[in-house]
Amino acid sequence: MQSMDGISKMVQCPVCLDTLCLPVTTPCGHNFCAVCLNNCLKRQKTCPVCRSVCAFEVTELAVNTVLAEICESLNPEKYTKRVLESNKQMREWKASVPIFFYNSYEFPGTRISLHLFEARYKIMVKRIVHTSRKFIFLPNFVNYKPARNDIGVLCEVTKCEILPDGRAMLSAKCTGRIKIVDSWIEPGTQGLYYCKCEGYSDQESNDSELESMHNMRLQISQRLAFQHAEAIKEFSKCHGCEPIDDIAFTFWTSNFLNTCLQRLAFTTQSSLDRMKLVFQTVIGSENNFESDVMTVTDDGENCNESRVSSLAQKSRNVVADVRGDSDNRESTTEELV
Ligand SMILES: [Zn+2]
Ligand SMILES: [Zn+2]
Repeated sequence: MQSMDGISKMVQCPVCLDTLCLPVTTPCGHNFCAVCLNNCLKRQKTCPVCRSVCAFEVTELAVNTVLAEICESLNPEKYTKRVLESNKQMREWKASVPIFFYNSYEFPGTRISLHLFEARYKIMVKRIVHTSRKFIFLPNFVNYKPARNDIGVLCEVTKCEILPDGRAMLSAKCTGRIKIVDSWIEPGTQGLYYCKCEGYSDQESNDSELESMHNMRLQISQRLAFQHAEAIKEFSKCHGCEPIDDIAFTFWTSNFLNTCLQRLAFTTQSSLDRMKLVFQTVIGSENNFESDVMTVTDDGENCNESRVSSLAQKSRNVVADVRGDSDNRESTTEELV
């Protein structure tokens, strides 16, 4: 029995003082329950035992299977119960996603390129690039603070180059829209917001809505092909070719709307309303097109040939992270003599 006691001591978590559950081993050689270590690292990125710097995420560590088997053998029933609880907690951390703010709307299906140099976003990249690869792109034109029910878009990193000074050149694909449920600044990240969110998609359209959507789509497609062929070609290089699916098409073409209408297109849960906004912009109102969304005043920027062309131009430039200290930015200005 003495030896059993000895083993129990050896497999005790230094944080909760219980038997290790889903044990993970830090690079400095100390063992903790995955959940316990994660809770500690949230406060301070150092080993709770020896204070070595822990520049990793607990999700990157593999469970130490030999230790796990020993711990389980000591009290299988209790261990299984604790694993279930831990898994639940771990699912919750995985459900929290960091937020990147920018003053533009990006629609599902769009590909974005970001040059990240702000300290908090450098931390964000380090955290996500080898784990979930997900972050929220949250349009914000005021204060770069998230609020409950804000709508954003979930992005998945497709390519990432981290430069020696920590800046990152990152490419990502915008997937579905989300709604913020809860948000907070993660401690020790120089102001990086994290959030919990839920999916936010369009309501299902009925048959007659689908039909009128499709009719409008055909007219828009035709107009774009005939009047804006060159611009569309340029635009497609960045945003992909015209989607076959009508709903995906409403997002794709929402890039042609002015910012005021984009806000509506981004937040509406009616695919038909989004199609109407695009129709109004691309085809115009000369067709006696009636729509309740049309009562919203355009901010004066007409979405005609020049709008579509300038957008094609813009889409070639990356969405650069131009906030923060300009010293960190690569200067393109020539020196004045
Ligand atoms: Zn523990
Ligand atoms: Zn240690």
